[in-house]
Amino acid sequence: MIPYCDPSKCEAAGCVPTVCTGSGIPSNRELFDRSCAAIPGGVNSSIRAFKSVGGSPYVVARAQGPYVFDVEGTRYIDLVQSYGAVIVGHGHPAITAAITAAAADGTSFGAPTPREMKLAEAIRERVPSCERVRLMNSGTEATSTAIRLARGATGRDRIVTFSGNFHGATDALLVAGGSGLATLGLPGTAGIPNATVANTIVAPYNVVPQLDDQVAAVIVEPVAANMGVVAPVAGFLSGLRAECDRVGALLIFDEVITGFRLGSGGAQHHFGVRPDLTCFGKVIGGGLPIGAVGGRADLMEVLTPIGKVFHAGTLAGNPIATAAGLAVLNELTPDVYAELGRRALRLSSLLSDACSSAGLVAQFPVVGTLVGMYLGDGPLPTNFDQAKTTSESTYAALFRAALAEGIALAPGAYEALFVGLGHDDTVLDQISVAAHRAAAAAMRSLA
Ligand SMILES: *Cc1c(COP(=O)(O)O)cnc(C)c1O
Repeated sequence: MIPYCDPSKCEAAGCVPTVCTGSGIPSNRELFDRSCAAIPGGVNSSIRAFKSVGGSPYVVARAQGPYVFDVEGTRYIDLVQSYGAVIVGHGHPAITAAITAAAADGTSFGAPTPREMKLAEAIRERVPSCERVRLMNSGTEATSTAIRLARGATGRDRIVTFSGNFHGATDALLVAGGSGLATLGLPGTAGIPNATVANTIVAPYNVVPQLDDQVAAVIVEPVAANMGVVAPVAGFLSGLRAECDRVGALLIFDEVITGFRLGSGGAQHHFGVRPDLTCFGKVIGGGLPIGAVGGRADLMEVLTPIGKVFHAGTLAGNPIATAAGLAVLNELTPDVYAELGRRALRLSSLLSDACSSAGLVAQFPVVGTLVGMYLGDGPLPTNFDQAKTTSESTYAALFRAALAEGIALAPGAYEALFVGLGHDDTVLDQISVAAHRAAAAAMRSLA
């Protein structure tokens, strides 16, 4: 049995009682090693293991606003923000209050609730293409449900996806694309039979593929935010809309990152292209597990219990997640988005300054409130082949140097940098100072 900790010793050691593990003084390394004995690789989402940047992860005890604190008490300015699930800052009082109030009413019932209704209404009001919204538990569940729905509604099997786009751990979309032309997908990981991806076609991003009448749907990240941040070129999204219409295929926007981050209307409002179905996740749960599919009423009503395409979930529309999501959407006014856009530009320019004064080749593209990092010179990438020319070894060096300076970047070279309501000008000033030192240190370590 694990011994209980001694609170007096805990305090002396600077231990955080709420995360006490019973071993007295916790260290990141100790806790991570202990996790590895209970959890494969010590993590519940693979990137968290620091495989591509080296070292062993900091173990988070708590977070507040722009900061995360590890179990050793070290504070980092957090540019991960739960990979974009957090937008108003960690531990925001309005979100915490909504969660607490909902939890006091009970955590899950297996029956309809007013909270899920209100969140669906809030999404519907802000995103006009979403005439109906079905709530679920993750972005992965949203993309897999959207694919099933598209196939069931059209009676067709083929799905077109884009190289370098990420749609979560959905089998049919975990494909390895070839370079250049659209190709039939091969499984992108062990454990997926060829047959599962036999109807998935992988096309290069930012080129409108020619479709035929076997295609059920095209699924796209309207701003690619999992290969760095890559904007859609002019005519790409509208071209997809037109090509889908020409052959009767559905257009699915995966707005799991862009939804309620690029603005209330998401990428579809930003670029003025209306998809048939939209996948959501991340922001709409206020940091709790959530996903959603929204879309045209006639399509959405092909889902059970009205239609023939099955969907269900024990915890779907969970009262706590929907309360948190609703509280977040209520905070996200047009002024907030304008401010987040300004901060994204400032983050990009201060990071550019830091890197250029250290002689480190880096570019920080901004799309609305999203910031990317591309460690290469020449034009910014417009597709995955180009995005892959980023220097992963430079990223790893920069990542480690930044962490040593108290800045937490995502432990992978292709993730976006997330600013939120916590990152005010004082924090951005702190990032600037730390980034100058980190860029210089990264250059020294690479020399
Ligand atoms: C994060 C993400 C997903 C997966 O969402 P989960 O909640 O992690 O399952 C899907 N699509 C995009 C674009 C994402 O960024």
